Amino acid sequence: MIRVSFLGLGAIGEPMARHFAREPFELTVWNRTAAKAEKFAEAHGVAVAATPAIAAASADVVITCLPSSREVAALLDGDTGLSAGLKAGSLIVDCTSGDPATSREIASRLEKRGIAFVDAPVSGGVKGAVAGNLTVMCGGDAPSVERARPVLEAFGGRIVHCGPVGSGHAVKAMNQALLAVHIWSAGEALAALASLGVDTSLALDVINGSSGRSNTSENLFPERVIGRAFPRTFKLALLDKDVAIAAGIARGEGIESPFVELAARLFSEAHAVLGDEADHVEAVRVIETRSGVRLS
Ligand code: NDP
Repeated sequence: MIRVSFLGLGAIGEPMARHFAREPFELTVWNRTAAKAEKFAEAHGVAVAATPAIAAASADVVITCLPSSREVAALLDGDTGLSAGLKAGSLIVDCTSGDPATSREIASRLEKRGIAFVDAPVSGGVKGAVAGNLTVMCGGDAPSVERARPVLEAFGGRIVHCGPVGSGHAVKAMNQALLAVHIWSAGEALAALASLGVDTSLALDVINGSSGRSNTSENLFPERVIGRAFPRTFKLALLDKDVAIAAGIARGEGIESPFVELAARLFSEAHAVLGDEADHVEAVRVIETRSGVRLS
């Protein structure tokens, strides 16, 4: 049996964690809001830990899935924090969409105690987490990533070793920057077409049979923008955080990145207007307000 402790039962963490409630895994869960962990443990017949330290003490592999690297770093500290329970030889797999620099710091702190760290952010959304076919982008040394692989296979369909610690987070951040660009540019295109009097449902259908299509136009806009469903599966606040990480990486590397910088500014503005609970695709509401045109 592989003893897994999963910390962070949020929108994506919860369906990811479900895959460990079966052999060959022995699962313990922890969540900041304890009631969620208790409900999960009862529903799936797994153990619940009262603190991160307790969760870490009983695990071969600890998985974290929190909003950002800041929360992961904070979770390590204190008498009841992860560090207090981690034993030499254990492995942390951080599925947070985090930032490479903080992950490198965390990894180097843990390495001194003989604890391995792999950043392993995911893509594929809540649907991919439920289906167990997420793409997982790993950063870490090869033996640690190979050690993590059987655990990642529980929820991952494609597991890719991207490079040293932080590389998974870097690839994920850039993927998110592209997602943000696709959402905003598709929203602008539909606003201009709606203003011209073109039916946006028809226009989207044409684009989805043409070269301007993207995952956003094919899989997000029909339901969420045309259908006005806007299910809250991935928070706009988290995409804002991701694009800011991408812009910071590009800036740090001295790569001129006007698209990514603009996406970071637009999603930060949309987050400020729409608040912490809005879904990422709801950013198009800001385009609607600014243009005075409805996209559906
Ligand atoms: P949610 O906001 O739904 O959940 C966040 C989780 O983190 C909750 O379990 C929350 O606990 C916990 N948490 C928040 N703040 C703290 C803190 N200070 N200390 C300890 N725990 C904390 O986020 P998601 O599940 O959507 O996202 C998690 C990560 O996965 C993010 O990095 C996100 O960018 C990434 N991601 C999300 C996807 C999605 O489709 N949702 C897709 C791919 C990646 P509590 O229950 O107490 O609030």
